[in-house]
Amino acid sequence: MNKLALLGGTALRDAKSNPWPQWPVWDEKEEKALLEVLNSGVWSYNGPKETEFNKKFAEFTGVKYAISAANGTVTLQMALEACGIGVGDEVILPGLTWQATAATVLDANATPILVDVCEDTWCIDPKAVEAAITPRTKAIVPVHLYGGFADMDEIMRIAKKHNLFVIEDCAHKHGGEWDGKKAGSIGDVGSFSFQLSKHLTAGEGGVVTTNNFELAEKMDALRNCGRRPEGLSDEVDKGAGLYSDQGNFYQGGNFRMTEFQAAILIEALKRLPEQNENRDANGMYLNSLLVDLPGVSPLKRDKRETKEAYFNFAFRYNKDEFKGLPIEKFREALTAEIGIPAVGSYEPLNKCSLYAPHTKPSKHKLSEKYWTEIDPKRFELPVCDKVYFEESVCIHHKVLMGTKADMDMIATAIEKIYNHAEELM
Ligand SMILES: *Cc1c(COP(=O)(O)O)cnc(C)c1O
Repeated sequence: MNKLALLGGTALRDAKSNPWPQWPVWDEKEEKALLEVLNSGVWSYNGPKETEFNKKFAEFTGVKYAISAANGTVTLQMALEACGIGVGDEVILPGLTWQATAATVLDANATPILVDVCEDTWCIDPKAVEAAITPRTKAIVPVHLYGGFADMDEIMRIAKKHNLFVIEDCAHKHGGEWDGKKAGSIGDVGSFSFQLSKHLTAGEGGVVTTNNFELAEKMDALRNCGRRPEGLSDEVDKGAGLYSDQGNFYQGGNFRMTEFQAAILIEALKRLPEQNENRDANGMYLNSLLVDLPGVSPLKRDKRETKEAYFNFAFRYNKDEFKGLPIEKFREALTAEIGIPAVGSYEPLNKCSLYAPHTKPSKHKLSEKYWTEIDPKRFELPVCDKVYFEESVCIHHKVLMGTKADMDMIATAIEKIYNHAEELM
């Protein structure tokens, strides 16, 4: 095979002449829907598009209630606050995730407890969860990371045993399914993001899902300045007597989404099942190729993952089998061959520059004790470290919207780097 692209050889894919599928995806249906909103003058809030999207997303996820909001960070905050989590409470979450999973716990004045992940799935390790439980533990926030799923059977068993809330962070898992149940329908609340990078997107946006009426009405109020929910369910319309009709019944803020976002999401949701199926078929095929290559391996696909959804295609790298080639070099070489960035995982939260609780004493120094508790450096996360520093290779999910030949090309690129590893050192 010819010289590595990183060393001046010809790349296996020239992304300029042969671009990857584009993300996001839209067509005249979105254009029409956006114009409809524009011309209606109803741009926000509780409008017909948002109402329709909430209904469709609840159906899609198999829950009673879906409540849209501004992004997937405030949805986590709404979930935590609705569950009554605050001062003195501990919330267990994986050390390998986007900073919002922990930052929202902090903003609820509770203590984020960072635990390690499983070697083979990069998702929260149920054994580590159990070991971290104290009398102060109130909730677990599993994150279904990349192409993996947290072991929801174990998480739910532990939660039940210790009477804990489970808030699923589903920012990577729209449409994914565990044992026939959709992500976001298993725990007490599911939280989703519609940020541009996610595989269901309106640029920004988020939604919470739940079967619990009391949580639903609180979350609805939290995103809408504390207002009495409208049309959440028949129970509300009949006046279930859970709150006063007069004024606010709950202290809330403005975390609302716009009708423009909802209009895009209604169309995007129609495309999602087929897109997920294509990505899953390509993901499974590419993983089957990785199994046969030296020095790389797929993330574990549990039998109970009945439908997969991908935010990034991620796999594991083993430097020793690559003659000691540092992972940074491998990622660079792969990027050069395939014409799309191959990057690392999230930084472990005990080392993540964007998760910096000690930078805001006026808000977070509730007491000396709390200040010490929220120091992320007190947690040891050896598996998260290994994933980030040694193992993780992540590529945008749009590669999975390509063809089988594209998957073959990625595998060929890995093999090419393997065969030329010495030249990179
Ligand atoms: C994207 C993401 C969020 C936050 O969502 P935003 O819409 O960007 O605020 C939370 N958790 C995880 C795991 C994410 O990937």
